[in-house]
Amino acid sequence: MTRTAYESERLALAIEGSGTGIWDRNVQTDEIYYSTDWKAMLGFKEDEVSGRMAESYTRVHPDDIAYVKRTIQDHFDRKTPYYEVEHRLRCKDGSYKWVCSRGKVVSRDSEGNPLRMVGTTTDVTSMHEISEQLHNTVQLLTSLTNEVPGLVFQYHLQPDGRGRFSYASAGIEDIYELSPLEVADSVAVLDRLIHPEDLYSYHASLRTSAACLAPWHCEYRVILPRQGLRWRQGDAKPQRLDDGSTLWHGFITDITARKNIEAELHKFATTDFLTQLANRRHFMVQVEAELARLRHDKSRPAAILMIDLDHFKAINDRWGHALGDKALRHFSAVLSNHLRETDVAGRIGGEEFAVMLRAAGFTQAESFAQRLQHHLRNSPLIEDGQHVDMTVSVGISVMNPTDATADDSIFRSDRALYQAKNSGRDRIERA
Ligand code: GH3
Ligand code: MG
Ligand code: MG
Repeated sequence: MTRTAYESERLALAIEGSGTGIWDRNVQTDEIYYSTDWKAMLGFKEDEVSGRMAESYTRVHPDDIAYVKRTIQDHFDRKTPYYEVEHRLRCKDGSYKWVCSRGKVVSRDSEGNPLRMVGTTTDVTSMHEISEQLHNTVQLLTSLTNEVPGLVFQYHLQPDGRGRFSYASAGIEDIYELSPLEVADSVAVLDRLIHPEDLYSYHASLRTSAACLAPWHCEYRVILPRQGLRWRQGDAKPQRLDDGSTLWHGFITDITARKNIEAELHKFATTDFLTQLANRRHFMVQVEAELARLRHDKSRPAAILMIDLDHFKAINDRWGHALGDKALRHFSAVLSNHLRETDVAGRIGGEEFAVMLRAAGFTQAESFAQRLQHHLRNSPLIEDGQHVDMTVSVGISVMNPTDATADDSIFRSDRALYQAKNSGRDRIERA
């Protein structure tokens, strides 16, 4: 046994049983010494492995050989302080093991050429299996979250208020038209995508969720470059981390279709089909809400106008029911043209309408009614070149904060309307 081989054996004994074998290579002669542990690692007995480098290379997996040789050469050329490479080695039984091979040139000749290199080989097969399993699990999770319609996320909010998506699935392309990278460090970009009217409630809902550690739920609109106006719903569970920051796990989905149906249903439930004005029930709900407001702020009462088409039966009789419908729509259009944003008009009965003028007294209500009568007279419905003349009678009351219900002011306006009818129609009366 040479002196160096003897030294190596001593070293091998020192780390015996650690799952690591050692080797000692003479670069000049291309001979290599392997410790007993090294051989045992691959299932070889003491005399079953030769000391020739050429044979050593035959045990390296064909796919790894070029990389292994390159890494060794780099170290010979002093490009690296030591040599370290993970690769596969063939065992005696033909199977392959993953190993981590580390080594270092320990002596060179006067020109710097390597003479001797020593190193270790460690079996990392089980680590490789674990990391492969881990990789597969991550792959599975990633493809799962990427296949779920919507955005699966992990959102991290620091105590200083800065937020970022520590994880965002591929669905972020649909939900926000962004890539996961664009929100990995900051979510500032979202403030420009969320509808300005929903931005406050969006942030408030997150703050509440963080403060109470209550589940986050928020329905909000976004305005996206490609998709335009869309509805989003977010749900997530928060948890507090040791550093005081908050971490949510959750998802955001597209609820535009549902919101559109809801809006349509709401419209069905609140509008009169023929005239597209508010129906009786919806009109009364708004008067009721106005009365509740008025009880707190008595300074700006609203006026209620009851409007009934005069001798409408005669129009139906003369022109037919279909034209009667047209006349109702014509009147509704004229009425709508006179409304301010804050006013509400409803169809209360067949040819009876009601208007609530917010923050208006008798004088404003009267001039509104006069303008309406004037317009109706000057732009009548024309059918087959003939004018379908229509007039209306109007009864006005002003809401009273002491009214028990919204019906009280409606009742007063109705009484005034009755007077207008009795006094000859096409008139305006106050309650
Ligand atoms: P007054 O000036 O007293 O109000 O007379 P009027 O004829 O308008 O009142 P009346 O209550 O006698 O008749 C209302 C008519 O309105 C009877 C009904 O056929 C008609 N009417 C109610 N709803 C509709 C509707 O949806 N379409 C049409 N075409 N006519 C309707
Ligand atoms: Mg009538
Ligand atoms: Mg009537």
